[in-house]
Amino acid sequence: MTLGEMLERSATKYPNKTAIVFRDRRVNYKDLNAEANKLGRALNALGVGQNDKVGVLMNNCPEFVTGVFAALKAGAAFVAFNSLLSGRELTYVINNSDAKVIVTAPPYDELLLMLRPQLPQVQYIITLDDDPEDENLLPFSTLIAPYEDSNLTPAVKLSDMAAIYYSSGTTGLPRGAMLSHVNILSSTVAIGKAVEASRKDVPLNCLPMFHTLAMTACMMVPIFAGMTNVLLENFLPQPVLKGFSDWKVTIFVGVPTMFAVLANMPNLERYDVSHLRLGYCGGAPLTTAIAEKFESRFPCKIYEGYGLSECSPLVSVNPLSNRKIGSIGKAADRVKWKVVDMNNKEVPRNTVGEIVVQGPNVMMGYYKDEEANKEAFRGGWFHTGDLGYMDEDDFVFIADRKKDMIIVGGENVYPKEIENVLTQHPAVQDAGVIGMEDAIRGEVPKAYIVPKLGASIDEKDILSYCRKYLAAYKVPRSIEVIDEIPKNVTGKILKRVLRRIAAGLPAEE
Ligand code: AMP
Repeated sequence: MTLGEMLERSATKYPNKTAIVFRDRRVNYKDLNAEANKLGRALNALGVGQNDKVGVLMNNCPEFVTGVFAALKAGAAFVAFNSLLSGRELTYVINNSDAKVIVTAPPYDELLLMLRPQLPQVQYIITLDDDPEDENLLPFSTLIAPYEDSNLTPAVKLSDMAAIYYSSGTTGLPRGAMLSHVNILSSTVAIGKAVEASRKDVPLNCLPMFHTLAMTACMMVPIFAGMTNVLLENFLPQPVLKGFSDWKVTIFVGVPTMFAVLANMPNLERYDVSHLRLGYCGGAPLTTAIAEKFESRFPCKIYEGYGLSECSPLVSVNPLSNRKIGSIGKAADRVKWKVVDMNNKEVPRNTVGEIVVQGPNVMMGYYKDEEANKEAFRGGWFHTGDLGYMDEDDFVFIADRKKDMIIVGGENVYPKEIENVLTQHPAVQDAGVIGMEDAIRGEVPKAYIVPKLGASIDEKDILSYCRKYLAAYKVPRSIEVIDEIPKNVTGKILKRVLRRIAAGLPAEE
């Protein structure tokens, strides 16, 4: 089954069931499939076919899903662009992806028109605006009007590229991970199995679908299982709680920051959250403090998954029946992993090394980047760039990302460990740690902290707290109070922004 056929299967099985609830709209499976067929035919008529790429640039809405499946039904691959990127970053990823057509919506259609002189290979821009001012924008509704709703059968193989997902670019230029139909389907099935997904589940999704976690968990899993997907444009705690209540939501998919915000919401008794059976969390480390707080206020446990775009994204899950909080759990269904040293040799248990992965979920490679592919697939295993160790029960614990590790006088220091200690301090809400150059030790840790509301920060007290839990060389050399720790949409600390702040530069380039 290709991804296009997966949607057709649900449309045949559950034609009149609501596939997506969005604002005051309900789209059933039959209509979702029909729109994708029509747009797919329109794309074919514009010359899109196999080996082509179709970009999707919009916020979460049903047409995002239509755009994705239309590209697949036309035989092409879709590229979901991050709508938060600046014009310069967007130009880079669009050009790198070779997208020929982009399906978009206001206000991104105007932005694309502005960027167009720098996007030589983009031939058509399709907008959700029914009546665009500029004739260079093709309105979606007019474009699909002449086409019939009948399934398309492109000669697509399961091993063909279905999508390109660009890495977050928390460091350096984003790289495009090429994901095949098999890659995405295997992650979809693994997530579905892990959360025991059933068509009766009602997930609420507000993660941006341009991220792989959302693409798989929030778009593919609901379609695969035939669920009614309550889709929100973005995360705002009140609408999320109202959504739980109104739609008897059973699964919430989010990143740690979202769980933290929900866990601290006042007046929960105003909402009926009794149908929630599971929180599914990924994208960044879930701390014990967040999990405990959330689970004490909501009637469900948080199921943590670990993964990355290059693995479509699921690599491991922390099994609910036997979980170890603080760990990223055990390898997901059909995924193999191990922890290796710099020479690709497996390290003993409880020794930190790099996590490497094999499995049907592992990407085809980086798009047009042979150098990066050689580096990433050393010894036939995909190198995640995440450092961690495996305990005697096969649970893996993440130490940090390889690029974020600091070397203090020859000792490896994982900023995440220091951040975890800092956020346990009663006056600290959030923390981010980076390495600063040091003439004697090479690098030393510097901490940025956000105080809890109303708390005052006493640097000496925080440092002595750190000394209690950390070896002396890991204790931050300096502490600075900041309003907010810069993070991306999946809750990852933007270390490059902290480094810019530390260097006295404006947060953004
Ligand atoms: P992305 O490519 O944007 O999906 O980011 C993938 C990275 O997010 C991984 O390499 C990890 O560093 C981080 N990550 C994802 N899930 C988790 C998790 N559950 N715990 C810790 N880090 C995570």
